[in-house]
Amino acid sequence: MTRPQRNTWQREAVRAALAEARGFVGAQRLHEVLREQGSTIGLATVYRSLAALAEAGEADSLQSPEGENLFRSCATHGHHHHLICRGCGETRELEASVVEEWAARVGAEHGFAEIDHVVDLFGLCARCRRTAGS
Ligand SMILES: [Zn+2]
Ligand SMILES: [Zn+2]
Ligand SMILES: [Zn+2]
Repeated sequence: MTRPQRNTWQREAVRAALAEARGFVGAQRLHEVLREQGSTIGLATVYRSLAALAEAGEADSLQSPEGENLFRSCATHGHHHHLICRGCGETRELEASVVEEWAARVGAEHGFAEIDHVVDLFGLCARCRRTAGS
């Protein structure tokens, strides 16, 4: 890499913290984690680093039902879907051939091509349900 990069150590810190997170996290949550680890990184830098990682395809990003931008460094690089616990953020990666077929078919029926879609499921995981029920 010959292109000069600013804020490289911050980017690396954000990348490492994201890799350790169990599921999708927002910039604010990740910023808290980094500060607890003694980092002096600023919230704006965390936002920028997360956006850059997502743009580079190194992290998945999505919007929570509350409208917060969430990020995760996913094991799967191809197109996939997520099942996310809104209690603890735990995430499962999903293949959904039913969704792929449905999207292509509905698009074709309306004369659309190059159909793109974002389908992520939010719910409560078994552990969070147990905690809530006790
Ligand atoms: Zn993913
Ligand atoms: Zn949970
Ligand atoms: Zn899909």
